[in-house]
Amino acid sequence: MGEKAVLHRKDQVWYYTFPLLSETGLTEHAFSTRKGGISEGCFRFMNLSARSGDSPENVRRNLSIFCEALGWDPARIVASNQTHSTAVKEVTEKDRGRGVFLPGFTEDADALITNTPGLILMTFYADCVPVYLLDPVNRAIGLVHSGWRGTFGRIAQKTVEAMEERYHSDPADLLAVIAPSICENCYGVSEELYLKFDEAFPGASVAKQRNGRFYLHLQQAVKETLMESGLQEPHIADAGLCTCCNSDLLFSHRASKGKRGLLAAMFSIKENHA
Ligand SMILES: [Zn+2]
Repeated sequence: MGEKAVLHRKDQVWYYTFPLLSETGLTEHAFSTRKGGISEGCFRFMNLSARSGDSPENVRRNLSIFCEALGWDPARIVASNQTHSTAVKEVTEKDRGRGVFLPGFTEDADALITNTPGLILMTFYADCVPVYLLDPVNRAIGLVHSGWRGTFGRIAQKTVEAMEERYHSDPADLLAVIAPSICENCYGVSEELYLKFDEAFPGASVAKQRNGRFYLHLQQAVKETLMESGLQEPHIADAGLCTCCNSDLLFSHRASKGKRGLLAAMFSIKENHA
């Protein structure tokens, strides 16, 4: 098996791509790191959302630096409106720039789907689980923000269902990448939450006990959800990178006790595919 995530360094900007997606030749995508931006303090350096409390000017400058390194026009981006809901929002050409240069969505949108080439979907993270979904047959994509609430509510499944409905996607064709997020060793939770997940995801691979403490393996919960939705196991790649274990490189809510910026997942269908 090859690597699940590749770290790139372009000028000062460091970012990840995922071979499962790159190898199709159908997408442009990236997952940001903290390296390469101009923000300071707990936001250093590449903070990509003003919702963290950083100045909008810094965030705008960071986004511009990030997009320049990748050769992308930031005007192509449409950003989520994340509220830890399980709401899936279809976006099209008319949404270009929303949440970046134009006002964002007022309704919940923790997952975005599109089949418009060139539109860049953007979602934000600091420990929650990012899920990239690609339908290589119908050329459609989904990008999912799955924290514990979204994972418990099976937002990944809702996104697969939305892609079936809107784009006639067959789940057996879908490719999925689970991007950097908090790992099962770092994600200690209350007994109450442990019990909730133990009931929703039985089998001890998601809700775990160690030394009298309680942990969740969110990536495994997302993977099980995707397989229940009809995805094939070889079509699911977990990047295997923890935001909290790697908090010098990645923003982590846990590692920073809530004082942090936000990473971004970006995902688009290439405009000129071969
Ligand atoms: Zn960890």
